[in-house]
Amino acid sequence: MKKCAICGAELNDNAKFCDSCGASQTPDDKEQRVLDNMARFLRYERTAWKVTGFVLLGIFAFYVLIAVLLIATGGIGILGAAASGEQFKNDPDFQSGALAAFLIVLMYGWIYLIVFAAAFVPTIIINLKMVKRVEFYQEMMKTDISVTRRRAISPGMIVFSAFFNKIAMAFIIVNFVKTRKNAKTFDMIEAKQKANIT
Ligand SMILES: [Zn+2]
Repeated sequence: MKKCAICGAELNDNAKFCDSCGASQTPDDKEQRVLDNMARFLRYERTAWKVTGFVLLGIFAFYVLIAVLLIATGGIGILGAAASGEQFKNDPDFQSGALAAFLIVLMYGWIYLIVFAAAFVPTIIINLKMVKRVEFYQEMMKTDISVTRRRAISPGMIVFSAFFNKIAMAFIIVNFVKTRKNAKTFDMIEAKQKANIT
């Protein structure tokens, strides 16, 4: 048994309208439009997090490759210079010069690696984690839209996304505005959903 979202009368589980007051028990056109919009911009937002996460991952992998090449060049160079003992003894200036050059290459390799990791890794992790978060809110729309709604009207999400993904932020703002503007429609959708759950 479910209850009418409007008057509370008990209805059959598959009732589309209330026998007592006639109220629709499923989303009407306006409610469906509002739901479709929220779902659409959540979908866009999810894509923005996902694409950005993987693009940054690709760029980061490329930088890591360069850093690793520098580290390898420096390391092999130092080993090679240390191994060329005879020439070293005859020409200490050449040897120390080569060692210093390879040390600098090695050092730059490590500095790049650390700087790139610090710059990219947190943003990549957050972008990919947000994909899962949005999927959670997409799922909650079906069973308890109030969870998704609370998230949509949170200004904190706009600030958060401003730091990590401006494209996702654009879609978050659209949902923020639309969800606030359609507060009454969302109240109705929530009421119908709750009536169907209990
Ligand atoms: Zn009713």
